[in-house]
Amino acid sequence: MDIASRLAELTPSLTLAIDSKAKALKAEGVDVCGFGAGEPDMDTPEHIKAAAAAALAEGFTKYTPSSGTVELRKAISEKFEKDNGLAYKPHQIIVSNGAKQSCFNAILAVCNPGDEVIIPAPYWLSYPEMVRLAGGEPVIVQTTAESGWKLTPEAFADAMTPRTKMVIINSPGNPTGSVYTREELAALVEVAAEEDITILSDEIYEKLVYDGTEHVSIASLSDTAYELTITVNGFSKAYAMTGWRLGYLGAPEPVARAIDSMQSHSTSNPCSFAQRGGLAALTGDQQCVADMRDEFDIRRQYMFERITSIPGVTAVKPLGAFYVLADVSSFGLKSQNFADRLLSKANVAVVPGIAFGNDNTVRLSYATSLDVIKNGLDRFEEFCRTL
Ligand code: PMP
Repeated sequence: MDIASRLAELTPSLTLAIDSKAKALKAEGVDVCGFGAGEPDMDTPEHIKAAAAAALAEGFTKYTPSSGTVELRKAISEKFEKDNGLAYKPHQIIVSNGAKQSCFNAILAVCNPGDEVIIPAPYWLSYPEMVRLAGGEPVIVQTTAESGWKLTPEAFADAMTPRTKMVIINSPGNPTGSVYTREELAALVEVAAEEDITILSDEIYEKLVYDGTEHVSIASLSDTAYELTITVNGFSKAYAMTGWRLGYLGAPEPVARAIDSMQSHSTSNPCSFAQRGGLAALTGDQQCVADMRDEFDIRRQYMFERITSIPGVTAVKPLGAFYVLADVSSFGLKSQNFADRLLSKANVAVVPGIAFGNDNTVRLSYATSLDVIKNGLDRFEEFCRTL
């Protein structure tokens, strides 16, 4: 059977490849320190699980409106207003099976074949593939450690062509941990506004910011920013709900309507009882979010200090998310080679930066216990000494 040409260039996920290698080693009884995780290691808070369990018990097991229940979209609308200063009415909100689907929906809704989408690297690895699946062309713009791994307005303007349709901004960022300031975002809006470029703002790590850093929603900066932006968020990272598959977006009305229609013909509604869990997450006590953030912060400080004390390794201090992106280029190995050797020689799993469009780095997730982090960094340090 022939595979459709739109899938011809699709690359399998490198993060999953390293994960399966690490799992295979673990299955053989090897004590692997895993820094590959892209999800919180904590369990979903009890009150959220209880709400979903109650929904199941009362038979809330049928289709819901394709873009989510009215109650949940109202709660999201209120959350956008309260946390982000964004006025999205419930009908401008589409709840999907994870922020991943929300991003894909946004790209599919806006991009025509041949349209270019500017993606600052290092990037979350699914963006370029989503753009290709939509028939668009990812335009990768390298950022530097000096700019804190952030897209500058100059680099953005330089990358623009008459075919540019969208720019993707992910703040707080995966894999960089970088967080754009209000001023930096405003400067990007100015460039986008000149040519009516759509901004896809992926804010899934919004709640995980440190050192007093403020998360700013780009759409909140002005009416122009609001009209240009599709804001994506979700439950996976803030509430440790990765397996629930629940995310959402807010968009100007015509875009939301188009996405609603598309989703009604593809996946329909996200899981009914998961939506009840999501409702409890947003309307319940937010202490659980603060507690998880505090725990991540302790690990972040430790990991950053340890890794940057290793000769030959540098990193920008992450201000958000739960990753440290370490530059290991001084050892002269390609990132995949570095990661493979680190796993086979020292039993430490990291993700090679090439997966994120940057071959000088490897990504370490601190969504794992402090014990594993300490042990893994001992081994990492020892490994670097042998190179
Ligand atoms: N955006 C980014 C930047 C992510 O890192 C992830 C999860 N790895 C997602 C979106 C998708 O999250 P979800 O589980 O809600 O699909």
